[in-house]
Amino acid sequence: MDAPTRSSLASKQTPPQPFSVPFFGQADALFERHLLSDAVVEPVGAYERQRFEALGHSVRDVLAAQWIKTQATYDQADPKRIYYLSMEFLIGRSLTNNLTNLMLNPSFKHAAIEAQLDWVGMVEQEPDAGLGNGGLGRLAACFLDSMATMQLPAMGYGLRYEYGMFKQAIEQGWQREQPDNWLRRQDPWEILRRSEFVEVKLSCSFEMHQGNLQIVAGHPSTLIGVPYDRPIVGFGGRTINSLRLWSATAPDYFDFQEFSSGDFVGALVGSISAQTLTRVLYPDDSTQKGQALRFAQEYFLVACSLADLIRRFRRHSDDWQLLPEKVAIQLNDTHPSLSVPELMRILLDEANLPWDEAWDLTTRSLAYTNHTLLPEALEKWPLHYFRQMLPRQLEIIYEINSRFLSDVRSRHPGDEGIVERVSLIEEGEEDKVRMANLAIVGSHSTNGVAAIHSNLLKTTTVRDLAQIFPERFNNKTNGVTPRRWLLMCNPDLSQVISDAIGEDWMEDFSKIVDLAPHAGEPGFQHAFLQAKRNAKANFAGWLHSVSGQSVDPDSIFDCQIKRIHEYKRQMLNALRVIVLYNRIRAVPDLEITPRTFFFAGKAAPGYRIAKLIIKFLNNLAGTIDGDPLVRGRIKVVFLPEYCVSLAERLIPAADVSNQISTAGYEASGTSNMKFMMNGALTIATRDGATIEMAEQAGEDNFFLFGLTAQQVAESRGWYDPRWHYDNDVETRQAIDLIASDHFSQNERGAFGPIVDILLHGDHYMHLADLSAYLAADQALCALYADRNEWARKAILNVAHSGPFSSDRSIAQYASEIWRAKPCPVA
Ligand SMILES: *Cc1c(COP(=O)(O)O)cnc(C)c1O
Repeated sequence: MDAPTRSSLASKQTPPQPFSVPFFGQADALFERHLLSDAVVEPVGAYERQRFEALGHSVRDVLAAQWIKTQATYDQADPKRIYYLSMEFLIGRSLTNNLTNLMLNPSFKHAAIEAQLDWVGMVEQEPDAGLGNGGLGRLAACFLDSMATMQLPAMGYGLRYEYGMFKQAIEQGWQREQPDNWLRRQDPWEILRRSEFVEVKLSCSFEMHQGNLQIVAGHPSTLIGVPYDRPIVGFGGRTINSLRLWSATAPDYFDFQEFSSGDFVGALVGSISAQTLTRVLYPDDSTQKGQALRFAQEYFLVACSLADLIRRFRRHSDDWQLLPEKVAIQLNDTHPSLSVPELMRILLDEANLPWDEAWDLTTRSLAYTNHTLLPEALEKWPLHYFRQMLPRQLEIIYEINSRFLSDVRSRHPGDEGIVERVSLIEEGEEDKVRMANLAIVGSHSTNGVAAIHSNLLKTTTVRDLAQIFPERFNNKTNGVTPRRWLLMCNPDLSQVISDAIGEDWMEDFSKIVDLAPHAGEPGFQHAFLQAKRNAKANFAGWLHSVSGQSVDPDSIFDCQIKRIHEYKRQMLNALRVIVLYNRIRAVPDLEITPRTFFFAGKAAPGYRIAKLIIKFLNNLAGTIDGDPLVRGRIKVVFLPEYCVSLAERLIPAADVSNQISTAGYEASGTSNMKFMMNGALTIATRDGATIEMAEQAGEDNFFLFGLTAQQVAESRGWYDPRWHYDNDVETRQAIDLIASDHFSQNERGAFGPIVDILLHGDHYMHLADLSAYLAADQALCALYADRNEWARKAILNVAHSGPFSSDRSIAQYASEIWRAKPCPVA
């Protein structure tokens, strides 16, 4: 059976279509051969999925030689290599991305259409590789694209989850999670490298107990990590790097006879438990759930990846001192920060180095990226997990801590406060290891992901550590790849851009600034608006075909698509919509530009309020749809199953990007950048990278509003949402309307918890920012009426989005953190 969302698509498009032979150059023969020999079907009778697989394999054939050549070049030149360790890679689809980066996309598409093949139908056969929750995982994927494009000798390491991010269905307005069995059918991109397996030793075993994984202490076990490689095609197809994803299996399921693995002794673990380890991605975003399986997953990633990269290093050198000159390991958040004790263990126990040498090599090889200041998201693992699973690593952590704290004491005699705050161990009812402290102490670089976030990190969250190691702290503002997020997803706008300034922007996105002089040209404005109109019509057509819903491409497309979280304030957006709704109800012939408000996003399955917000947004959409007074003027659409592919569809069609987090809470944001590149205007609080985006484009080309991070922090003590309720009529009417069950007429009281949060406490200060939001919104609508002025500002936004390419981020990582250079493939 197909995944529910896809089967409906497939069944509509499945009827086999005529196939004529002159297909695409070299690849047409490949394509046909794959259909004949892999699927064993007559090409003319092939199903869409078989065609997708044949096409995928053909593209892989095209890139295979260059992939091997890239790896051989690295083996020969032995450059300093970059290893990007991440628990998440939110890849999305690979077929069109690989074709785009091989610069074959237009010709393949054209040839397919010539051959009367349903190109879109074929492309949509590919499931999203959803091995991530949101921004952090997508960042990792964009970084891989940039590293390959910039010809850096890099490799991504992650886990091959059998089930990725859950699929979101909406039933009666509620989110229902469904498993994402993305590997049910053979994935054409992954290559099993069985011979490069790794053994991972644990001092416990696992057992399934009523569906839960439990630790069996005192029973050492061995797991096998089996690598699957995926090609990462750099733009132009010269460099093809690898993303190596580890799959866990048990020794008794693994055929060692096939390889000469040396001596293998390991207690046989229950195979079910071992294979459970990489079965599923944890669907929590911005919260840390202390679960043993997650802890084991993190260690498994670290142990497999370090063993693999050390083995590669040793093939070239037997001098351990060279490690930091040959290896840069970037830790994407604290999830892989067990790398600190694990690398120490390897250097101490396997290389037999003395402590000081091992410590020097470890800290010089590792670097850490912090992604959040939210206390609930900072990882802290109970000591007993370490004691049961990783006692040797715990011993090492104790030793690191004792040396570090005695150093701190000598610098701050008599100050036990600072010692307590910087300690790697948090003492309490249950002692825990502070993973952020471990990563900062055990590495040479700690970076935040936007200027404001890096500053807050230094001055608040880990202030003491920043004072002890000032030289370690730095900023690397996030970026997104302009290949996937502009060239691939928005062909019309890309063409308009290339017609004006040539094609260099694809590889050197700083060139996009050449658009700025065109912003005032009526002819260019017209072409720009036409591309936007096409993208909106395309989106409306797609939405209608998959859901039957109609949206008006001449309305303002106003978007907020991201994980559902209180700090991201989807409810602030909803309050704005309710105020507009009330205004129309009060003055029925009010003149307004028709607007469509799009929401999309998933809530963590255990996050009650976030799931209620989804229910609310769906009810809001239903109520407004059912109200003849507002029909055709405002419309709310909740798009289910937010994922990379949905973002690629909607962002090109967006007029307005909402980035409205409580200032100080969004570390960077990256959807803000995707919207900017695609010519949306941004309505936003001064938070994350949005601050830098507005700086680049000029604040008069942005719609900024609301409290600053400093104002938020300063008003924490006395802020009272009641004041806004009592003193602002529109705020009061909006909240009263929710409380009156206007949006829950058959579900009385359903939204009581939301009203409660807004009126009592309102930790994320929705009410404090509502009237400023509405004022900015009004200015934005007024501008929309002046099509040329709107286009001018939107074009200036695109023109100044250059610094938000992940190529810029990676250039800074490479020169300032990794000190690594490109290694071009001849
Ligand atoms: C870019 C992206 C994100 C990050 O969005 P933010 O608004 O920055 O939180 C999350 N999910 C997907 C699928 C994305 O493409």
